[in-house]
Amino acid sequence: MKYKTVLLFGAPGAGKGTQGKILGSVPNFFHCACGDAFRSLTVTSPLGKVFIEHSSKGQLVPDEPTIELWRQSIEGNTRAGRFHPEMDTLVLDGIPRNVHQAEMLQKTLDVRAVFYLHCRDMNKMIARLQRRALKENRLDDANLDVIRERLKTYDLETKPVLKFYGRKLVHNIDSTQAPVEVLSSILRHLVKK
Ligand code: ADP
Repeated sequence: MKYKTVLLFGAPGAGKGTQGKILGSVPNFFHCACGDAFRSLTVTSPLGKVFIEHSSKGQLVPDEPTIELWRQSIEGNTRAGRFHPEMDTLVLDGIPRNVHQAEMLQKTLDVRAVFYLHCRDMNKMIARLQRRALKENRLDDANLDVIRERLKTYDLETKPVLKFYGRKLVHNIDSTQAPVEVLSSILRHLVKK
């Protein structure tokens, strides 16, 4: 059985986590943020070390351990009764993050929609990340060079995922709107489905 899935897609700082948390609080939706799965690892564990090594440079963690961690996280949440694959919609945030990951997940995910939170003004995204660095104590948000590197990684590696899923599934949403407006746009599409 494939998981019924919607993807939150967009550059770092676009607001995927904000929207994901809200959607995840609605009955029959389950939010899963790949970055949160990484941040929940202890920094001294083998994968925790790999995560720090890559995220501190603005790079992606290699695909195999990433997908493995993600599967463990989803299976753990299923066993714990937080995610019910037969009736819930999975709201994914931060994964797949390149075409290879999308291919690796093809047999697992039934992707019904991709919400592309896009933004033409990168300075706005950078300002959001720097605010978040202070609030959430995120080292990868604090340094301007790391932020630039993450935006570059996003452009080169993550953006091609949009093409992989194809136009029909992708809904463009202006991420510079207020969170409530972004939410309203997402909900409009979801209730149509
Ligand atoms: P953001 O969306 O703001 O970049 P995330 O919390 O989603 O933040 O991710 C933080 C870091 O975790 C990324 O920069 C990357 O190093 C790592 N990461 C998260 N998800 C993935 C993934 N699917 N594949 C590889 N690395 C990932």
